[in-house]
Amino acid sequence: MRDKFKKSTGVLAGAVATALTMGMLSTTVAAKVTDKDILNDQKTTNDVVSYGLGPRAQRYSPLDTVNKDTVTSLQPVWAFSFGGEKQRGQESQPLVKDGVMYVTGSYSRIYAVDMRNGEELWQYEARLPDGIMPCCDVINRGAALYDDLVIFGTLDAKLVALDAKTGKPRWKKTLGDYQAGYSNTAAPIIVKGMVITGVSGGEFGIVGKVEARDAKTGELVWMRPTVEGHMGYLNGEENGITGGEAGKTWPGDMWKMGGAATWLGGTYDPDVDLIFFGTGNPAPWNSHLRPGDNLFSASRLAIDPDTGKIVWHYQTTPNDGWDFDGVNELIAFDYKDGRKTVKAAATADRNGFFYVLNRENGDFIRAVPFVENITWAKGIGDDGRPLWVPENRPGNPDGKDKGESVFAIPAFLGAKNWMPMAYSQDTGLFYVPSNEWGMDIWNEPINYKKGAAYLGAGFTIKPIFEDHIGALKAIDPKTGEIKWVYKNKAPLWGGVLATAGGLVFTGNPEGYLMAFDAETGEMLYKFNTGSGVVSSPITWEMDGEQYVSIVSGWGGAVPLWGGDVAKEVKNFNQGGSVWTFKLPKSAAMASR
Ligand code: CA
Ligand code: CA
Repeated sequence: MRDKFKKSTGVLAGAVATALTMGMLSTTVAAKVTDKDILNDQKTTNDVVSYGLGPRAQRYSPLDTVNKDTVTSLQPVWAFSFGGEKQRGQESQPLVKDGVMYVTGSYSRIYAVDMRNGEELWQYEARLPDGIMPCCDVINRGAALYDDLVIFGTLDAKLVALDAKTGKPRWKKTLGDYQAGYSNTAAPIIVKGMVITGVSGGEFGIVGKVEARDAKTGELVWMRPTVEGHMGYLNGEENGITGGEAGKTWPGDMWKMGGAATWLGGTYDPDVDLIFFGTGNPAPWNSHLRPGDNLFSASRLAIDPDTGKIVWHYQTTPNDGWDFDGVNELIAFDYKDGRKTVKAAATADRNGFFYVLNRENGDFIRAVPFVENITWAKGIGDDGRPLWVPENRPGNPDGKDKGESVFAIPAFLGAKNWMPMAYSQDTGLFYVPSNEWGMDIWNEPINYKKGAAYLGAGFTIKPIFEDHIGALKAIDPKTGEIKWVYKNKAPLWGGVLATAGGLVFTGNPEGYLMAFDAETGEMLYKFNTGSGVVSSPITWEMDGEQYVSIVSGWGGAVPLWGGDVAKEVKNFNQGGSVWTFKLPKSAAMASR
């Protein structure tokens, strides 16, 4: 494929040829993205066709030309600006395929860019209504590729499929009522020809769900609500009530506006043929209004891709009272226990614990704290349930306008928020972007009102250490041991990438793309991109050269919800661009 690409472009040179080149790509080279391409994505280094570099989302690349020895020579080769007056948080992971980069920006925008030089091929901006209600900035985390389509979600809870060549819409579907608080920011994933999505809106009392659509047409295949009591659908027919019946783990009618938003999207493991989705906080935040476990909020769900049925669930925070959304990515990996191979999966929860589960059946294997000074639980018991500290649950208002306030660690923005961790197949370690902070939190009375915040709580986030909030941690999933820590002054809010070059890449709000030694945590490289980095890096190969790309643009939930921490980061400049790096030819050759 790459040889053919070289041949077809070799005769053309210079910027004038770009349009022609693209024409040739579309007729002679540009292959449609297939399920096989997506399943093989991690191994095929000349493209990145899925969120997470493969359906398991390990965010690991076998590329090693950029490595511990050469990374110091890494240089930017181009930067592309998203333009306009609209900036704010840029949390997107780019995709690259057949000479084209597809990257989403804030305010539901998406761009196709020439991978060689950063020249724009097309852009698409969703027309957003005035009343959108994104809780946590106007961000987007990325697109999906399938067939000749680019598919992404919008802030008014639409799913849009564009022609990959032209950027013209081919189909559009509604994921939820934006006036009730539904929105969409996650990158969709593709499983067996279906595009799989969740919804945002847990702060507005929406009902979470996972939906599967025919990726080529957008037609709904199945829908699975994530709150006990709601009916699912398969091919237009009723497909069982989630959890069997309503109200088993919820009081009264509270399940009807139960939250459990599936706002971070999912992963898929072809080995056990299960889709893994996390679910957010139960609504409202005030836990005294809903005694019970409140299934299936703050959980990881394993869903059968053929039927939409929940095969197993594991709840990280039953009866959550701290906004500990359980959405974080569940990443499949195998490890050896003696002679036995354990089919495991790991997740780093907002509640401060790093969990290893059996991914075949959801059985709890172990959990360890990955941040310091957790207050709400003493640990996780052998049965997988938290060992609560009852006095650290914010108090019941009990007829008053404010319940007793507590200081809780982690803060509700989480020991880890949306930003995805990476798993290195070489070191066997997970690299977790975490934050160490706390909050004053108290409960208040609340009633549901469509389109209004449904919290019943107040809060102020505060730092707990002088020198840092962000902490990138290398964790051994077999023991729970933390191998190294990189401390960052500002909260970390970007995803991580591990490579066979022995490197771990991530960014920080101070603006840097950074590379660390995967074994020691030593920082080997940094480059300032001009605005905060709160996105997920990728690496790819073109004509035998390794490239690294990352989106830059400060924003996200911290400046909006960060309390005292928001004040500390208020002077960081906004932006909106994607940067691409590679080694000078001499440095790349020297490493061979
Ligand atoms: Ca690939
Ligand atoms: Ca939440």
